[in-house]
Amino acid sequence: MGIRFNCPQGHPLNVKEFLAGKRGICPECDVRFIVPVQSGDTAVPVEEVAAEPSLPTALPAKALDDDSAPVEISPGSSRNGQSRNRRRQRAKAITLALSAVVVFLLVVLMVVLLR
Ligand SMILES: [Zn+2]
Repeated sequence: MGIRFNCPQGHPLNVKEFLAGKRGICPECDVRFIVPVQSGDTAVPVEEVAAEPSLPTALPAKALDDDSAPVEISPGSSRNGQSRNRRRQRAKAITLALSAVVVFLLVVLMVVLLR
């Protein structure tokens, strides 16, 4: 089971099949790539794909090293009502970013665990 492939830099990796087509980060060289759908392929770097504008591609996945501090939400209690809308938009963006980061970390976890 699983997909054996090489990262764009040639490092041998192995992930579970359900991660085919998902994004991953090579634990050796930190290159972001799209997991190929079958074994033997070489992963495509994310920069070359870039065909998914709906997902934030420039996520600092490594910025979440200390998992206890996911988001810096500024204390906005003393602000007026205008910032409420902005805060809601920001919360939405943060939620989206967090879910993407979780996917990233899952992929990295799989890659690390299955080596
Ligand atoms: Zn690599």
